[in-house]
Amino acid sequence: MSVELLQSKAADFDAVDPLSSFRSRFQLPEGVIYFDGNSLGPMLKSMPERISKTLHDEWATGLIRSWNDADWINLPETVAAKIAPLIGAKPECVTVTDSTSVNIFKVLCAALVLNKGRKRIVSEKNNFPTDLYLVEGVRDFLQRGHEVCLVEDDLELFDSITHETAVVLLTHVDFRTGRMLDMEALTKHAHGHGALVIWDLAHSAGALPVHLDEVGADFAVGCGYKYLNGGPGAPSFVYVNEEHLGSAWQPLTGWFSHKTPFAFDHSYEPNQSIKQFLCGTPPVLSMVALDESLKLWRDVRIEDVRNKSLKLAEFFLECVSASGLDDEFSIATPLEHKDRGSQISLRFQGDGYAVMQALIARGVIGDFRDPDILRFGFAPLYNTFGEIFRAVQHLKEIIEIGEWQQARFMERKAVT
Ligand SMILES: *Cc1c(COP(=O)(O)O)cnc(C)c1O
Repeated sequence: MSVELLQSKAADFDAVDPLSSFRSRFQLPEGVIYFDGNSLGPMLKSMPERISKTLHDEWATGLIRSWNDADWINLPETVAAKIAPLIGAKPECVTVTDSTSVNIFKVLCAALVLNKGRKRIVSEKNNFPTDLYLVEGVRDFLQRGHEVCLVEDDLELFDSITHETAVVLLTHVDFRTGRMLDMEALTKHAHGHGALVIWDLAHSAGALPVHLDEVGADFAVGCGYKYLNGGPGAPSFVYVNEEHLGSAWQPLTGWFSHKTPFAFDHSYEPNQSIKQFLCGTPPVLSMVALDESLKLWRDVRIEDVRNKSLKLAEFFLECVSASGLDDEFSIATPLEHKDRGSQISLRFQGDGYAVMQALIARGVIGDFRDPDILRFGFAPLYNTFGEIFRAVQHLKEIIEIGEWQQARFMERKAVT
């Protein structure tokens, strides 16, 4: 297909895009094509006013009274109630607190205690590092002889979950390749073998429908700052299946996890609700920012977001192929819709980091993951088909003229 045809196809898609009105709610810099919402979602235009209100009316004026008057104290529930429908959970099974890493620690400990007769923890070798480091950390800290089994290939996952498995910790959508696991089948399989399952939804929540209650997931965690656009370092969410509430305990028994924090009791009594998964005082400014971002979801269905995400990705692949980039790049993301999340990852044989830097210099922001992956995350609430067309044109030029080979693109920064 010719370049002109692709361009007009993009324009046609954008013209009939039912989600096109959402883009104007985001503050996106001029001249930037942003495909990194899977690392840090952009800011909503309504954010400064909301934060300013919290600063001036609530903090500066209300002072300590705002814990009650502005309902700061209930922010974990208020925010969780907005996330729950996106992940197919009852609001009383979700709370918002701490970072994803800290929440992985909590649910991993909770699950290992629930299934204490067993010693094996199953995860994937390619799982996100924090998940793997925490598995090792918890194993070493508990000193109960837990054994870690890291599966090298998705195909071996089912076989590796056996009657010896205590807990399976999996990331639903792989951060490098965008590969999505079959949550329902794996959860069923694990339960059939008496194992508990923890799902890391960092690359799923806000990108595609998830049905935690329906599939019977035991625990889940996820990120506030990726597809939920909560801002840098936004708090994370944690889900505990209703069945485990009141019996699953996490060990960070800070006062917010107590039955009656403001009774200031001398001894610990766990809260019987999801609040047991809180630890200390919520970071109000960050919670408010996440709350503001989540208001978007009053007006849009996650199913519609998923539909557009798949179309954007399909069009991206079409542009890559039509631009003759097939020879330079291989597609690391599974092609079947049911097997992928909201990103396309391209593998490059040369210096992929430099190619991404060259793209960023042209205003196309994606990111690079070692050893050879260029990631393009698609966020249907603000990305357009026109952007996809233009981004791939840039990529084509960068490759054609060897622009990425300039020394300035090869210097590694701290955050890739
Ligand atoms: C981004 C990400 C995290 C992030 O954890 P933090 O504690 O927020 O740094 C965790 N798991 C996965 C799979 C991720 O992609």
